[in-house]
Amino acid sequence: MKRLVRENIQKMTAYSSARSEFKGSASIFLDANENPFNSSVNRYPDPLQWVLKEQIAKIKGCQKEQILLGNGSDEVLDLLFRAFCEPKEDHIITLPPTYGMYQVLAELNNVNNQQIPLNENFEINTSAVQTAINTKTKLLFICSPNNPTGNTLNRQSIEQLLGNKNLIVVIDEAYIDFSKEESWVTKLNQYPNLVVCQTLSKAWGAAGIRLGMCFASTEIIDVLNKIKPPYNINSLTQKYASNLLDNQQSYDQKRTTVLDERARLEKVFQSFDFIKKIYPSDANFILIKVENAAHLYQHLVQKGIIVRNRSTQLNCENCIRISIGTPDENTQLLAALTTYI
Ligand SMILES: *Cc1c(COP(=O)(O)O)cnc(C)c1O
Repeated sequence: MKRLVRENIQKMTAYSSARSEFKGSASIFLDANENPFNSSVNRYPDPLQWVLKEQIAKIKGCQKEQILLGNGSDEVLDLLFRAFCEPKEDHIITLPPTYGMYQVLAELNNVNNQQIPLNENFEINTSAVQTAINTKTKLLFICSPNNPTGNTLNRQSIEQLLGNKNLIVVIDEAYIDFSKEESWVTKLNQYPNLVVCQTLSKAWGAAGIRLGMCFASTEIIDVLNKIKPPYNINSLTQKYASNLLDNQQSYDQKRTTVLDERARLEKVFQSFDFIKKIYPSDANFILIKVENAAHLYQHLVQKGIIVRNRSTQLNCENCIRISIGTPDENTQLLAALTTYI
């Protein structure tokens, strides 16, 4: 994978922080110009977050050296662009309709985004993607389960695309906890060009602490570690995340409730005539097609309920994306839909 890395990144020397230079135990630290008076946050955090990574590795079944943590997945995705895409030269491939950040990051990094639309079932058009790949293609973003459509993308298609070792295949699994399908993290040892992104923002219920997880071969992780801001995960986030991951029971409970509620909404949605289509969901939201999305959106706003009108997205005309709320919130949503004519 090394040859896919941008030349300036290959050549650069990483910042060497005080906390990474001395690795041992000592009683007096006068090496980082920190404030010596103890509070819980007067010291710089562990730049490589080993305590947290050890917990994550155990939960996900990988090695801690195969993990990079970011200030949300968004930072992880940005690091991938910076590591692999030469501005104005290289390009990426995305599969719309999909997560909007890939396009934003492509523009930010001045990298061309070649869009190969998902087919009418929102599945990958594998042969079109393969045709689009050339020597300038560095990253292929596959969001699975996909946002905003909710479906998990076909495994055989992804496997086929992973077979091309001349580019990095990024599988964004922000919603994997809600899917019946297995995570691609278990396939890291099989594919050196595989990068999997997950997050604590959805199923773990911690969008506010900003913790994104990236899983890849140690070769790729080493490159990303070299270019990340040295202290990108603050101590409060590391501590909070560590406690959160210790509480698997709370995670299971919330996840089960979301899945039960998703099934309930899907079922009741079928009784509304104005809902033309309910897309099958493996995520914590449901995409529906209605007669008039803007009209329904306004109706719900009047009831104090905000959903996402996704009509502007490719092949999502009159589609509304609804996040699964608490049981009480969902009941109110259904009541509001009942009064819609
Ligand atoms: C919500 C979401 C994320 C999570 O981003 P964070 O920066 O970790 O909060 C990532 N990818 C997709 C597709 C998402 O929908």
